[in-house]
Amino acid sequence: MISVEEALERILAEIAPLPTTQVPLAEVLGLVLAEDVVAREDMPPFANSAMDGFALLSQDSRPKDGQPPRLRITGEVAAGYVADSAVQEGTAMRIMTGAPVPPGADAVIQVELTRSEVPGSAWVEIMEPVAQGNNIRPAGEDIQCGQTILLRGSEIGPWEIGVLATLGWATVPVVRRPHVAILGTGDEVIDVDEPLRPGKIRNSNSYLLEAAVRRAGAEPHRLGVARDTIESLREKFTQAVQHDLIITSGGVSVGDFDLVKNIMEEQGQINFWRINMRPGKPVAFGRIGGVPLLGLPGNPVSAAVTFELFGRPVIRKMLGHTRLVHPQIDVVVEDGVSERVQRRHYVRAHVEWRDGRFVARTTGNQGSNITTSLLNANAFLIVPEGGTTIQPGKMAKAMMLDWPEV
Ligand code: AMP
Ligand code: MG
Repeated sequence: MISVEEALERILAEIAPLPTTQVPLAEVLGLVLAEDVVAREDMPPFANSAMDGFALLSQDSRPKDGQPPRLRITGEVAAGYVADSAVQEGTAMRIMTGAPVPPGADAVIQVELTRSEVPGSAWVEIMEPVAQGNNIRPAGEDIQCGQTILLRGSEIGPWEIGVLATLGWATVPVVRRPHVAILGTGDEVIDVDEPLRPGKIRNSNSYLLEAAVRRAGAEPHRLGVARDTIESLREKFTQAVQHDLIITSGGVSVGDFDLVKNIMEEQGQINFWRINMRPGKPVAFGRIGGVPLLGLPGNPVSAAVTFELFGRPVIRKMLGHTRLVHPQIDVVVEDGVSERVQRRHYVRAHVEWRDGRFVARTTGNQGSNITTSLLNANAFLIVPEGGTTIQPGKMAKAMMLDWPEV
């Protein structure tokens, strides 16, 4: 049996980021940039107005003999159009936010600081002097042509997508999204739309893992459930090996029908198959037909916990991320953990910020078959090996499941 840390290290040593590909901009959320993004244009591309108002020569805005200057309006320029003449001394041009500043003008005065006798008047009075450059957003103020804006290796979020759109990157070079085969095992496991029959239970793992895989950023493919026969497993694995990663649940323990290990021996290699943790001791890792295989335990809670600890970091590494694991923080365990467990114990808990500190409450019965212990859990308390308990009100480390990875 190896430690959680050694298991993760051995798994990640076998995983590399997937190749780079071009993906349409609308589909790159959460992916990792495979190249630096260098601007090929200035942004904004032309000097434009920051306000609705009048483009003018700043020198014309100064009061004359104590009176507000009157300027003749020679035209109008709306956003999306270009003025057909220049602004000359003694004149002004109506301008809208985002419209290019007409030649000749060196300032824009907002409409609120002007006065017109009637709407559509040919004259405007300038009520306040404005400085050169007032309300003008110069070309290249945001981004200059040739500037490196985003670095390779960074994760693409909504704001990065906005900048990429600004720069005209209709497709983006990214690390490819992994395709993950999800395989259930067990003669007792039936699909969710089937009525329960004696001895049968519904396949919760495949659906749980499908969602968790998608949330980790990969493309899940549920391949159904293999029967507890070597033939059924072989058949399912011929499909599974067409993916970047295979995740199975069940069939990796020491029972007579735990055949996933046999298939790994037959068609690939087992790297390890037991980890010193609870829930989730029987976790197998290896390869089949060259494809990494993570064999998770059958008990739903064990499958969920071991996916967070091992499956999610694998997917993130394949996606090109460098921050792979959930962060750990110190919390006060309000209700304590009284159960003595020799293995490292991952206790489902809800952590919240209260009165200036993080406080955890466990989610009840921690049996590995108690699926409801996952509900409302946003953290795993990490109880060290060797039968440690945590008295109510004492501190422990909590792995935060809904915080960004570190
Ligand atoms: P195993 O590791 O195959 O011995 O399975 C351990 C426990 O998990 C057994 O009680 C199984 O019935 C249960 N189990 C296995 N696969 C699933 C599944 N896909 N959904 C729900 N429970 C499962
Ligand atoms: Mg089984």
